[in-house]
Amino acid sequence: MKKHQKSSATPKILLVIFISALVAVSFLFAKQKVEEFCGTSDLNGASAYAPTDSADDSSWQLMLVNADHPLPEGFSVELTTLANGHKVDKRVYPYLQRMFDDARSAGIIPAISSSYRTAEKQQSILDEYTEQYINQGYSEAEALEIAKTWAAVPGTSEHQTGLALDITTADANKQAADIVWKWLKKNSYKYGFIIRYPEDKTDITGISNEPWHFRYVGEKAAAEIHKKGLCLEEYLNLTE
Ligand SMILES: [Zn+2]
Repeated sequence: MKKHQKSSATPKILLVIFISALVAVSFLFAKQKVEEFCGTSDLNGASAYAPTDSADDSSWQLMLVNADHPLPEGFSVELTTLANGHKVDKRVYPYLQRMFDDARSAGIIPAISSSYRTAEKQQSILDEYTEQYINQGYSEAEALEIAKTWAAVPGTSEHQTGLALDITTADANKQAADIVWKWLKKNSYKYGFIIRYPEDKTDITGISNEPWHFRYVGEKAAAEIHKKGLCLEEYLNLTE
């Protein structure tokens, strides 16, 4: 009898566990949806949709970082950590969120593949590229030179500013990525982002065509850069 009671209670317990798990999963899923970009940041909900564009201090938006313009000594940035672990400059986050939301509304599913990097991380990426070219038969010096057209030397990478992001797709499918890049090429300026290394500006930027690398420069500059087909170096020369 005792044995019988025990065995009939087991399915009930399992059912309760199953329902609890289901509730927990749906709750987590809903929460994940809301926090997709909010992460551990203090920005969430409505505040994410209220970007503050301070006209008096927008110089940070146009910071030039390239091989000739390294990051200033002791540079630091306040970062927002996204739920997917990526980090961006806190001030850029609301625009990024809005761009991703609008892309999704248009049926485009972008994913961040790289964001803020420390100098150490940048070095390891440059090392990886160099290694690849050494393996292809180039000398170490040659390999480093080619690697530098894909990954900047630490201190000269925009990824260290928190203003740059590599945007692709979650599944690394080239065709899907092309769709994402096409949408971003057409629309990213509306959110203050530009394609930082265009195909026809490699001689000026010193960086190979990177349709995935986006840089926040603010809505005003992005609109002009987009309209006139410039790269950031050209735009800054114009406005100097
Ligand atoms: Zn990049």
